[in-house]
Amino acid sequence: MGEVPADPRRRVPRTDTLLADPGLAAAVVTLGRDRVKAAVVAAQDRARRGEITPDEVRDAALAALPAPTPRAVLNATGVVLHTNLGRAPLSDAAVAAVVAAAGHTDVELDLRTGRRARRGRDALDALAAAVPDAAAVHVVNNGAAALVLAATALARGREIVVSRGELVEIGDGFRLPDLLQSTGARLREVGTTNRTTLHDYARALGPDTGFVLKVHPSNFVVTGFTSAVPVRELATLGVPVVADIGSGLLAPDPLLPDEPDAAGTLRAGAALVTASGDKLLGGPQAGLLLGDADLVERLRRHPLARALRVDKLTLAALAATLHGPGTPTRAALHAGEAALRERVERLRDALGADGCKAEVVPSAAVVGGGGAPGVELDSWALSLPGSYAGPLRLGSPPVLGRVARGRLLLDLRCVPAAADDTLRAAVLRVAG
Ligand SMILES: *Cc1c(COP(=O)(O)O)cnc(C)c1O
Repeated sequence: MGEVPADPRRRVPRTDTLLADPGLAAAVVTLGRDRVKAAVVAAQDRARRGEITPDEVRDAALAALPAPTPRAVLNATGVVLHTNLGRAPLSDAAVAAVVAAAGHTDVELDLRTGRRARRGRDALDALAAAVPDAAAVHVVNNGAAALVLAATALARGREIVVSRGELVEIGDGFRLPDLLQSTGARLREVGTTNRTTLHDYARALGPDTGFVLKVHPSNFVVTGFTSAVPVRELATLGVPVVADIGSGLLAPDPLLPDEPDAAGTLRAGAALVTASGDKLLGGPQAGLLLGDADLVERLRRHPLARALRVDKLTLAALAATLHGPGTPTRAALHAGEAALRERVERLRDALGADGCKAEVVPSAAVVGGGGAPGVELDSWALSLPGSYAGPLRLGSPPVLGRVARGRLLLDLRCVPAAADDTLRAAVLRVAG
C-alpha cells in the first residue's frame, strides 16, 4: 500500500478492459463510445504520468464524464411536494405512458378515420370526466401559464380586480402581480393585506373590469384579524370570477380541509379555475384550466395558447395520472403514521445489525410548496449524525434528508416502501 510500482505503465488497464466495465459501458450507451473512450485514454495517460495509480483509472474516467442530470434522488426530507426536487413524482402508470409516448404517437390523429384529431383528447376527456362541474377544460404548460393565458385573453388592456392579501410570490422571486401585468392587464388592487370585503370588490368594478381574480394562498397563512371574500360571494358580483386554486386538487381531500378543490370552486360560482398539475394532483408539470365553455374556448383559440401548449409526454403522463389508481403524492400524504414507524424501526434494526447506530424519532412532514400551508403530517424519521448529510446527498442515489439540531433526519413519508433497502444501503455506505 502506498508503494509506487517501478513501472506503473505496465499495470495501466487496457482500453477494451475498461470499456467493458459496467459503469463505463453504461456511459457508452448514454454518451457514445467516442466520448467515453476519450475519457478512458485521458485517465490512462494520467496513470502513465504517475498522477493517479493504475487502480484509479476506471474511477477517474468515470469522474471525468458528465453525470446525467437531472438525477433520481430519494426524498427523505418529509416535504411531500418539494419544488427543488421536482414536486410530484409520477406514478408507475404515468411513467409507462411517458415511455410509450416518447416515439411516434397518435397524439393528434384518429387512428380509426386516419384524420387529424383533437390534440391530447384522452387527457382532456379524463380531466373533464374527473370534474363534471367543468363545462370545458384546457391544459397548458404550468399554473403560471394558465394565469397568463386567462389574463391575456380576458383582461389585456383591462382590469383584473384582486385583493391586496392575495398578491403572492410563488417562489424563486416570481410574483403573481408581475406575471399578470406582463400580459398587458392592469391590476385593480382592493382591500388590505389582512382584510378585504365584498364591498371593496364591488366598488372597484366598472366597464374596464376583465375579471375578478381569487388566488388561494397556497404557501402562507395569514392569521389574526383577517377576512377574505369566498368565491361564493364574489360570484354574485356579475363579472367572471377566475380562481387560482394552485394545488390541483380536483375533489376535496378530508386530510386537507382548507385546500380548495376544482369541483367545489366551480360549484361555488367560479367561471374559471386554474391549477397546477404537479402539486396535489400528483401528475406532470401542467397548468389546468376548467370552467365555462365560452371562456375556455376563448383561451383555447387565443394565439398565445399555441405558445403555452404542452407536449405529448405531458399529455400522456397527465392522462395516465387521471386514469390511474393513485399517485405517489397521494400515497405519501395518506401513509399511516403507524406503518411509517414500523418501517423506520425495521431500518434502524437492520442498520444496527450492521453496526450502524441510528435512532427512531417522531417527525412532522409537510405538504410543501404545493399547498396546505401550516398543515403538519405526523411522521417518523431515522435520526443519524448530522455529518452524514453531505455524503448521503453526494451518494448514489443521492439521499436528501433534513438537518435539525445537529442530527440528520430521514423522514420516510415520501420514500416509497420499495426503496427502504436502497436507503439502508446508502446509509451503510456512509457509515462505512
Ligand atoms: C403553485 C402556484 C402557482 C404557480 O403554478 P406553477 O404550476 O408552479 O406555474 C400559481 N398560483 C398558486 C396559488 C400556486 O399555488
